[in-house]
Amino acid sequence: MRVAVVGGGITGMSAAYELAKRGIPCTLFEKDETLGGLAGSFKVNNTYLEKFYHHLFTTDTAMVELIHELGLGDQFVWNDSNTGLYYVQRIYRLATPLDVLRFKPLSFPDRIRMGMLAIWPRFIRDWHKLEEITAREWLLRYAGPRVYQVVWEPLLRNKFGHYHDQVAAVWIWNKLVLRGGSRDVRSGAEKLGYQRGGFGPVFIAWEKRMREMGVEIRLNSPVEHIRIENGRATGVVVAGQFEPFDQVIVTTAPAILAEMAPGLPEAYRHQLQQIIYLANVCLVLKLKRSLSTTYWLNIADPTIPFVGLIEHTNMQRPDEYGGAHIAYLSRYLDADDPYYCMSAEELFEAYLPHIRKMFPEFDASWVEEKWAWRERWTQPVILRHYSKVRPALKTPVDNLWLSCMASIYPQDRGMNYALLYGRKVVRQMLGEEPAA
Ligand SMILES: Cc1cc2nc3c(=O)[nH]c(=O)nc-3n(C[C@H](O)[C@H](O)[C@H](O)COP(=O)(O)OP(=O)(O)OC[C@H]3O[C@@H](n4cnc5c(N)ncnc54)[C@H](O)[C@@H]3O)c2cc1C
Repeated sequence: MRVAVVGGGITGMSAAYELAKRGIPCTLFEKDETLGGLAGSFKVNNTYLEKFYHHLFTTDTAMVELIHELGLGDQFVWNDSNTGLYYVQRIYRLATPLDVLRFKPLSFPDRIRMGMLAIWPRFIRDWHKLEEITAREWLLRYAGPRVYQVVWEPLLRNKFGHYHDQVAAVWIWNKLVLRGGSRDVRSGAEKLGYQRGGFGPVFIAWEKRMREMGVEIRLNSPVEHIRIENGRATGVVVAGQFEPFDQVIVTTAPAILAEMAPGLPEAYRHQLQQIIYLANVCLVLKLKRSLSTTYWLNIADPTIPFVGLIEHTNMQRPDEYGGAHIAYLSRYLDADDPYYCMSAEELFEAYLPHIRKMFPEFDASWVEEKWAWRERWTQPVILRHYSKVRPALKTPVDNLWLSCMASIYPQDRGMNYALLYGRKVVRQMLGEEPAA
């Protein structure tokens, strides 16, 4: 059996690695020049840095195990997270339960209601009912209008823009469970994991390991078409050439598969096209000085055009980057949003008045370098009853499989789930677990 894996992000790498572990010949096709996909890196002062901010939660055990398996565990560290909320021109620390109790914009009873959201969602076992209502309805019911208005509505708007009031309660429930599970039991402080020197070296070591195991890795090789004959996938077309394969595993966004495989059944193509993904654009600033002491700052101010400010060097030491401070200014958006196509310079110009408003002492001369990274397929939008449109890993076409961020449910996408869903699709393909 020969298998083609389309897409060299974590899901595709994981699928190829699983196949290699079983001695099954496999070719991994990646359109870009490096592996890693959304978790890919670039270099700052000779150190790898993710194009989009990345960290792990304590529940992301599969990813941590992989790092150890590749011999890089000594560089993996857990840090105390340092989260804050920018609200009415002030930064409020919101990292521990005590911070929530001190959060002045809410009354004391509302602070308690907000704090409870970090605990009780963990006790909800059956999430199916949460498919029926929106996150807005659910949060209003359990946290109340003031907590929703001050904290949750801005956060949902930040992540999902005009879909903010349509996102299903399942999504927010899972986020609360995930983040609650990454807290220290005693202090309640959140722990976040990071690979010193960046996750980039992990992907390099993983690629090397896979090549040694016999995986054929083809970079700069976009798959143009997947050929389907008599209801069966028979191979892929790359650089105009047809290459036969017995099985094809696709790990791209569903909409890409819908384009790539003209022979898909129409109803299935329609199902794939219904799944909405947002794009992301990240402006990365290399600074002489730090902006604040917060690592992760959610911005609850709709007039500010970036929605999260992640000061990476408040989690990693600046000396990893030659003493520079690194800040990501992130925005999730539709692909036709004008911000999506802006250069680093244009984004900086647009963001500058807002950075000054937030940090009055900020001066443009602090910026030593800037980069803009953008990707079209970054965040599936989980609407109500998503389980009805969620594509199964087994497609209706024989020998064609789809495992991607949109497959992950009720959990949300992330590196750890990408790794698990790469394994899962291989197990289903080989009949080691029921195909679904
Ligand atoms: C802003 C941002 C912040 C994030 N922060 C975190 C975080 O802190 N922690 C965390 O765990 N996760 C985080 N994530 C999520 C994480 O990056 C993803 O869940 C994970 O990387 C998805 O991997 P994937 O392989 O499923 O998809 P992708 O990484 O999208 O991989 C798909 C691959 O397919 C390739 N491809 C597309 N079309 C073709 C084609 N025709 N032929 C060949 N190849 C093709 C693409 O180039 C890409 O490499 C973040 C994501 C974003 C956008």
